[in-house]
Amino acid sequence: MPRLYFDANASTPPHPEVVEAVRRAMAEDWANPTSTHREGQRARFRIEEARREIAASLGVAPGELVFCSSATEALHLLIRGLHSALGDRPAAVFPGEHSACLNPLRDWPRVSWLPGLPADCATVVQMAASNETGILYAMPPVLDAVRIRDCCQAWGKVPVALSDCDAAVFSGHKVGGPRGAALLWMRPGLPWEALMEGPQERRRRGGTEDLPAILGLAAAVRHLTERQSMNASVAAVRDAFETEVTSWNRGIEVIGQAEPRLPNTSCVLFRGRNGEALHAALDLAGFAVSTGSACHSGAVKPSHAITTLGYGLDDARSVLRFSMLPDVQTSEMEALAAAIKRLT
Ligand code: PLP
Repeated sequence: MPRLYFDANASTPPHPEVVEAVRRAMAEDWANPTSTHREGQRARFRIEEARREIAASLGVAPGELVFCSSATEALHLLIRGLHSALGDRPAAVFPGEHSACLNPLRDWPRVSWLPGLPADCATVVQMAASNETGILYAMPPVLDAVRIRDCCQAWGKVPVALSDCDAAVFSGHKVGGPRGAALLWMRPGLPWEALMEGPQERRRRGGTEDLPAILGLAAAVRHLTERQSMNASVAAVRDAFETEVTSWNRGIEVIGQAEPRLPNTSCVLFRGRNGEALHAALDLAGFAVSTGSACHSGAVKPSHAITTLGYGLDDARSVLRFSMLPDVQTSEMEALAAAIKRLT
């Protein structure tokens, strides 16, 4: 049997048009976009064309987008870049944020956890959707604070609105785009300072632009509407899977089942079982799944995204995340459920 992949929240296979766009850019548009000769200017034109196309899809002005190499980088540039102007005041942060978001906040002397909101709060950080549970979160209503949204998991799965935030990040490889392409969006006028000096990206992110990755991202964005509607229909397949696994009365619980969730994510607690061992057994049986965020895999540390919801450490060690690609088939989910039934 071919291997089956249920780890779409970690990464997705690039769309065939993305592969072709990257290949073409590497073969034809390799010149430095900062160079003033014709080859360089052609590369520059291609980047700006991609920026306009992506900005239109997000409903923002092209000049508000900064191309980065990963959402991790974008979050570091954003949060550290706000720190010098705002760092004397506290940040209010959703405790289940991805480590890519929590790590740059270590520099802030005062961080309080949402839903707590200190009166003089400088910035609020609230992910749009959890990478581990798929739960969707609204931005808390705040005044006079920079509202940061990590849209990595929501993008291409559910509609993303930027009206309730001032800055947001997006990652290409979660939406059928290439690795090495991500976006930082900032509303104009934020009290933000660039950390990576250089003339590129209007002095906001120095370093020669990764043109193939950027053109690959633009190709992925062309398919985003279609991807989102395919993802919407994954919910029915996912729900049938959850109904099946919880019907066995084996202490299996779906985390966040009653909450508004991403349509492709099923975060399952196998109470009393070792999540790492089940993960390894499923891998041997041909199923790629996750014990939580990919960034935690390999480390035995239980996921803070689960303990934040009130689950204990033992429960957090008993969780597997199944995240489906947009074209998942019912028969594939049934094969996964059958394997879990054999192994639990
Ligand atoms: N934020 C969230 C919610 C994520 O799920 C991820 C990746 O798993 C990231 C940020 C980091 O994205 P990247 O891999 O582009 O650095």
